Amino acid sequence: MKKVYLDNASTTQIYPEVITEMTKVLTETYGNPSSSHAIGREAKNILELSRKSIAKIINCNAHEIIFTSCATEANNLILQSAVKNLGIQRIITSKMEHHAVLHTVEILQTTHDLKVDYVAIKPDGTIDYSDLEELLSQNGKTLVSLMQVNNEIGTVLNLEKVVQLCKNTNALFHTDAVQGIGKTKIDLTHLPIDFLVASAHKFHGPKGVGFAFIRKNIILQPLIFGGEQEKGVRAGTESLHNIAGMAKALEITVANHEIDKTHIRDLKNYLLEKIKSNFPDCHFAGNPENTQHNIVNVILPFDESKAGMIVFLMDMHGIAISRGSACQSGSSKPSHVLETFIANELLKRPNIRISLSKYNTFEDIDLAIEALKKI
Ligand code: PLP
Repeated sequence: MKKVYLDNASTTQIYPEVITEMTKVLTETYGNPSSSHAIGREAKNILELSRKSIAKIINCNAHEIIFTSCATEANNLILQSAVKNLGIQRIITSKMEHHAVLHTVEILQTTHDLKVDYVAIKPDGTIDYSDLEELLSQNGKTLVSLMQVNNEIGTVLNLEKVVQLCKNTNALFHTDAVQGIGKTKIDLTHLPIDFLVASAHKFHGPKGVGFAFIRKNIILQPLIFGGEQEKGVRAGTESLHNIAGMAKALEITVANHEIDKTHIRDLKNYLLEKIKSNFPDCHFAGNPENTQHNIVNVILPFDESKAGMIVFLMDMHGIAISRGSACQSGSSKPSHVLETFIANELLKRPNIRISLSKYNTFEDIDLAIEALKKI
């Protein structure tokens, strides 16, 4: 049985060139980047070249990149320090954020004098920008935290619009760009976002490494205390092979962006056609015409009893998909994202998220549809 991987929003297959690069660093550049001898300096050189390469791609200053162990850590660093050290009194976010943001904000609310407002979501799963504008007109030192691309349904935030609204009211703006980076061009010199977060394993890099972009002149305090690595904002010896692998993965992703995007968009269009013709009573979560080219989330006209089983049943046919974030794949409970804008009746039905990558083929889609027909 052919195994078909259609869960690329959870994680992606690592590029072979990235493995080569990481192996090279692991074998040849074993020094500690903080050591001042030649072997340490060699490691430091790779660290700083990786930082520069990432900074060039998102058009920011290399000093504005802080390496972390993952995007969850980077989100925590920014949100926690914004409240504890920057005097943020209010966070405006949405109920559709990843738990790395939602749970952090919830905890901060219990431990600090913090007001949290959730911006309204429209029936197509997008942010209601007039509600955001209205919320921003209220007083208090505010941080807006909204994700660039939703990981469950693929809706895309209008970053320019949110930046403008934040600038008009002097609010800080943080965006979790984990699902968008490498898939849409980001130019941080021309787009004055204050904080941005990314994770290597979503763009064919290694797991266990990510970065935070922190705009210059904003001084955050570390989450954990220790050495002076990463300008004292993130203590702990840098994971050099992972960082070099992340930089390489982003370089390859950006270099092949247009060709890969065209292929993935063709796959998505084919998938949409197949779903519509085989399951005419289905309902798409988010308008699939406007969602990011690699993500489709569909509620299927199947019996409610199959909701908790669908991922398992597809897996029995060799098809790896999910219902939402990886952490809730096997649950029969509707996802917290769909709950914000889908009617209760539809929520009871099984939904699946199919997320594509450059490695997928039209045959993969055919196999997935055949498996769905057997459920
Ligand atoms: N934010 C979003 C939007 C995600 O999709 C994910 C991963 O699923 C994360 C944050 C967490 O990333 P990491 O695995 O690097 O902690």
